[in-house]
Amino acid sequence: APNRVPNFSAGPATIPTAVLSRAQDELLDWQGSGMSVMEVSHRSKEYIAITEKAEAKLRSLMDIPDNYKVLFLQGGASLQFSAIPLNLLNSGRADYLTTGAWSGKAIKEADRYAKLGLGETNVVATGKESNFTDVPDQSEWQLSENAAYFHYCANETIHGLQIFEPPAVDAPIIVDMSSCILSQPIDVSKFGMIYAGAQKNIGPAGLIIVIIREDLLGQVSEWCPLLMNYEHQAEKESMSNTPATYSWYLAGLVFDWLEEQGGVAAIGKINQQKADLLYKTIDDSDFYNNPVAIKHRSIMNVPFTLADSSLDKVFLEESAAAGLMNLKGHRDVGGMRASIYNAVSLDWVQQLVDFMIAFEKKHA
Ligand code: PMP
Repeated sequence: APNRVPNFSAGPATIPTAVLSRAQDELLDWQGSGMSVMEVSHRSKEYIAITEKAEAKLRSLMDIPDNYKVLFLQGGASLQFSAIPLNLLNSGRADYLTTGAWSGKAIKEADRYAKLGLGETNVVATGKESNFTDVPDQSEWQLSENAAYFHYCANETIHGLQIFEPPAVDAPIIVDMSSCILSQPIDVSKFGMIYAGAQKNIGPAGLIIVIIREDLLGQVSEWCPLLMNYEHQAEKESMSNTPATYSWYLAGLVFDWLEEQGGVAAIGKINQQKADLLYKTIDDSDFYNNPVAIKHRSIMNVPFTLADSSLDKVFLEESAAAGLMNLKGHRDVGGMRASIYNAVSLDWVQQLVDFMIAFEKKHA
């Protein structure tokens, strides 16, 4: 068996070994064609079958209603920060909730259009005062009347802060689910648009998924670049130009794998167990700390600091020597971060927790 190590990378992140093995089996000779998937035309009947199956699987896994389009695009979640106002601001006013680095970047892109006089943006509230360890209570939010949309980030990958339920607001809700899509069941019908980069819970980088309610299409600015125009991409079935064919294929394999695991509800239970185990280890000790408000603690990204930060380097050296990889925290937060996406097993988290307890005994 290949030497696969516990990999806690925030993204690009670990992909299920079974998926990579299947891709390997099919790499040189895909379905007896004598070619790799990445070598065939995106317009071929065989490739279109892959994309149709991937979309059908995602629709079934997430229970996506029929009045939503599912797009498989490129440019990452970051390009959607720019595309969202182009498609939906429409000279109106958009509300943004700031809860960390990623939601902060989203509004900065929308602000570019606001500066050109093409609409207005409004930060309804920011968690900055708490260093993004908490979300201001909704009673304090400055919501606009008749906002074109309300944008937030469901899981701040860097700060390890998650918003589990969409807020009750009147405007169509647009949510960045890059680091929590498919991690637990959600009600898609509560959202106007959901978007997520693939490189955490879906597969390799290069692919971004946009799930958008049909009635939100058709209000796009006429000068919106064609490739960022959701209505156009929906008409062209995400093939306005050559899509990220191999990433799309691999996403389909990950959807198959997730279905074999029992789907989103089943993996959601394991994700909760993984997160509970890790947070309990942190909370049971004075050696480790996680500052995030309990009700917003992410089940996907768990940042933690050591009480004695001079031990950070030793922690990273010893954890890597123990085969536990990519635990260094983001520079904005410091300390460590364990990203525990769907492909990270409970066993890997148990190994991490065992290591943390032993490390504390040795160094406390
Ligand atoms: N949003 C969130 C929540 C993220 O975690 C990331 C990437 N880590 C992004 C947006 C940006 O994604 P990309 O690099 O694919 O543009």
